[in-house]
Formats: sequence, C-alpha cells, structure tokens
Amino acid sequence: MKQAGAVIVAAGQGSRMGSGPEKQYRTLLGRRVISWSAEAFLQHESIAQLVIVAPRDSTERMQVIVGSDVKVVPGGSTRTESVRAGLNALDLPADSPVLIHDAARPGLSLKVISSLLEALNDADASAPALLVPDALKCVAPDNRLSAVDRAPLRRIQTPQAFRLGSIVDALEQQKDLVDDLAAMEAIGAKVSLIAGHERLSKLTYEDDFEIMSRLLSTNAPTPRLGTGYDVHKFGTGDHVILCGVKIPHSQGLVGHSDADIGWHALTDAILGALALGDIGDHFPPSDPKWKDAESGQFLKHAQLLADDAGYAIGNVDITLICEEPKIKPHRDAMRTRTAELLELPLNLVSVKATTSEGLGFTGRREGIAGQAAAVLTPKPMVD
Ligand code: MG
Repeated sequence: MKQAGAVIVAAGQGSRMGSGPEKQYRTLLGRRVISWSAEAFLQHESIAQLVIVAPRDSTERMQVIVGSDVKVVPGGSTRTESVRAGLNALDLPADSPVLIHDAARPGLSLKVISSLLEALNDADASAPALLVPDALKCVAPDNRLSAVDRAPLRRIQTPQAFRLGSIVDALEQQKDLVDDLAAMEAIGAKVSLIAGHERLSKLTYEDDFEIMSRLLSTNAPTPRLGTGYDVHKFGTGDHVILCGVKIPHSQGLVGHSDADIGWHALTDAILGALALGDIGDHFPPSDPKWKDAESGQFLKHAQLLADDAGYAIGNVDITLICEEPKIKPHRDAMRTRTAELLELPLNLVSVKATTSEGLGFTGRREGIAGQAAAVLTPKPMVD
C-alpha cells in the first residue's frame, strides 16, 4: 500500500470543557488524550509520517509527550489554518493518502485507519459515519417542535482521509470549516463513508471523559505477567557474563550460549507473559547457530515478539542467586545494560542478588541461579 501521512489537530483550547488543562493533555486511562491516537497512527504500517498541530504556546511540551518520531508544528488561529499548517509539514507526494484527525477523539483503532485508506481507493475522500438513532426535532423560536427525517442524516467523525494534493487545494480558498470534508463537498468530490464507532466520539464536555474511559477500557487488553528461571553450572574460565556485564571470576559458566543467567531468565519471563513457550523452543541448544551466542539477541527477540503481540515491556525484575562472584558492585552496570538493550528507562529495570546461605547447589558454589519477572503492558487497541 502507498505510504500515507497523518495530521492530528490538537491546537484547540477546548472552551466548552471549562477550566483546567487543555483536553489533548489530559489523562485518560493512564495515557494522555493526544497519545491515544498518536500511537494508533505510529503503529499502523501504512502511516509513514505523523504531524501534530499543537497550541502555539505548547509545541515543546507536545514534542516531549509524543516523542521524536513525530513532527510537531504550531497551530493557526482557526481549525482550518491549523489543518493547513499540518498538511504543509508533510513531506509526501501529492497523490499520497493523508488522514486528518481531531486529537479529542482518542478511540482511534488500526482497523479504522485501514478501512479509510481502503475506501480512498475509489473515492476522493473517506470518513467514518454513524446513523442517528434518536428522534430528531427542530425547535422553532416559539418552542414549537417539528419532526426531522433522520434517515438520510449521518454523524461524521474523524479521521477523514484524502489525497494530499487535493485536500491542500480544496482548503486553499476556505476560511474556517466545520470539518475538512466540507472543503471536498464544496468541489463536488466523491466521498465514501465507512462505519463509524462510538469510541471515535469527541471529548467535548466534562462527562465525556468518564464515558470514553468506559468505552476504551472494556476493549483494552489487560497487562500480562511472566516469570522465568535459569541455572548454569560453573566450569573452567576466567569470567562470567550476567545481564550483559562481563565479570572477572576464577571460573566461567558452562552453557551453549554465553550462559547469561539473568538475561535467560528474563527472556523466559517475557515469553511466559506471552504464553509463547520457553527460550529453548525459540533458540534450541541443538542449533549450532546459537553456539556462544550473546544472550542480548534472545532478549531482544522476546521483546520483538511482545511488540508483535501488541505489548510493550512495562517493568522487569531480575534476581541472581549465588555466593560468588559478588553481584552488588556490578548491579548498576547490569541494570544499565538491560535498560539500554530494552530501550527502557532505568527506573523500570531492577537487578537484585541474594545468596542461599550456603545451602544447596548455589550455596556449594557449584553454579548460579537466576529468576526474573516481567510485566507487559498493552499498546493501544488494534481493532
Ligand atoms: Mg540458560
């Protein structure tokens, strides 16, 4: 599929929301409102560029929140000006699909993005739409009611999809539109409507936050926990490798790979959280490919499997059990190496150590044991 662009308009001040922080910066189920739809776009395979149009006075704040993969530009004085600013920041050919979305609609799914792009194949524009289930009345100035035929009416949501060149041209002459589709309607373009969803509703009033929390939480997957355990025995050698750190020692650890107990246990914890078997299933010791392998690649592979399954690593906790070598002097280096490999903040990575008070095989200094726990947190919904 052709590479597409996306623009999230987040420059509004949200005057109907009352005082308090602008709604794009508020928290919804532990994540900022803007981050919900930004992450949906970033995860979609067809979206090559994402631009967020931020309030003029908070572009730096927005950049910190959404991260460096996203271009942040300042908004204009009207919604239409802000949309233009966002479109101008895309560096894509004129026939590229582009989706324009309101930040105040956090319930964006990958499926909606795909459906809009597909609908664009034989239309000039596409948008999600909902039927109007309630009876509609027109209230005259004297309060007299008259019925409105709701059958032909639709509630139009965002994202709305266009081809970049055509929406830029269509918006050129416009001052301030209710939505971007209006610019295409004005030139008689063919619009294809796809099924909308209540989750795509706009956060407008204070109560909407609670309603949206319920809508999104019932569909949100829950975090997953996994544990892992590993043992390697001492053999000849002059160092051991634990959590990616080489520690000089009078013996080495025997193993097919580099025998990194900490990272083996953690790899198993992540695989366990995913219910995807164990490290031996993925990296069989019988396969010469893994002879003397660095265990970082096992761990990184487990992280990629988590990513594929829609999970990010939340936090990890590794415990090493041995009498020697002493772990404490190397603990910070082990945490740092693990955090670097997994691209996690240091405060989400714990490495601890204990002895077994001289008891058992670790107490007899025959080997080292390790255990680990990992929590995987769901990324935004995928359908
Ligand atoms: Mg092992």
